[in-house]
Amino acid sequence: MIWKPKRDDGAVATLPAAGLPAAQSFEEQVREAAEAGRFHLGYQPLVSVADGDVVGVEALLRWDSDAGPVSPARFVPVLEATGLIGPVGEWVLADACAELAARGRPDGPGLLSVNVSARQLAPGFADLVLGTLAAAGFPADRLCLELTNPAGLDDAAGAWGELRELKACGVRLFLDDFGTAGASLADLRRFVVDAVKIDASFVKGMTHHGDDGAIVAALVDLAHALGMLAVAEGVETAAQLERLRALRCDLAQGFYCGAPATGLPHRSRPR
Ligand code: C2E
Ligand code: MG
Ligand code: MG
Repeated sequence: MIWKPKRDDGAVATLPAAGLPAAQSFEEQVREAAEAGRFHLGYQPLVSVADGDVVGVEALLRWDSDAGPVSPARFVPVLEATGLIGPVGEWVLADACAELAARGRPDGPGLLSVNVSARQLAPGFADLVLGTLAAAGFPADRLCLELTNPAGLDDAAGAWGELRELKACGVRLFLDDFGTAGASLADLRRFVVDAVKIDASFVKGMTHHGDDGAIVAALVDLAHALGMLAVAEGVETAAQLERLRALRCDLAQGFYCGAPATGLPHRSRPR
């Protein structure tokens, strides 16, 4: 039985019954999962809009807790706030590079996309990435780093310098969730990004909501005018893929093209 004394402020405090461990906070659960290495990776195909070929994969963190799967949208912010995203992010990169290197080509997908939090972009990040690539025997020009919020990058800490060093070695940069997070047009001008990933919220409404359709068309044109690839996120229907083909969007990702899965997809898929 659990005793629930009233606190002075009227809130209910929960104490464990004798002999039972105290209930863990969510942060403690995330910390324990990180320290015990309980995460694994899912891989979602990146598909060529023109012909349906799988040209790459995005590695996505997965955590099957005792209470069931937990979304990274919930636990990645905790990893970021606690600084655990540093070691976990290193593991993501090393594990994904090793897995793709082991599959080899031409059977395996070409590009590997890995999400990077602003917090990871500390001095030494470029050396860490290059060392990981070398250890895995994975070529730099097959790695894409996805950044969500360039406005949050700390220039004083040399974050952009780390990225420039990686770019000079052939690593590609993708701007994730474009159109929603802290990415401005000034960021696109300031820095050479290889691709923009058009946020799923625009793709979702593009075939039945005129404004969303116009935004996706404009973002594809903007990417091309700046010499970048356009990648559509969250493609869930044949109609969306058809429309993206008409707009000459380069790459697509979404449940219709392939959901995230534990194993790597094969290079080609039926259209
Ligand atoms: P993201 O990088 O934008 O990843 C795409 C998200 O959209 C994934 O959610 C994916 O499962 C989901 N998705 C893919 N296709 C569809 C679709 O057709 N419809 C819908 N509704 N959703 C789709 P997920 O796996 O829950 O990841 C959420 C976010 O967590 C990621 O968004 C990324 O920002 C972050 N994240 C995941 N793995 C990592 C990681 O290794 N490091 C860091 N720093 N962040 C990560
Ligand atoms: Mg991403
Ligand atoms: Mg995204």
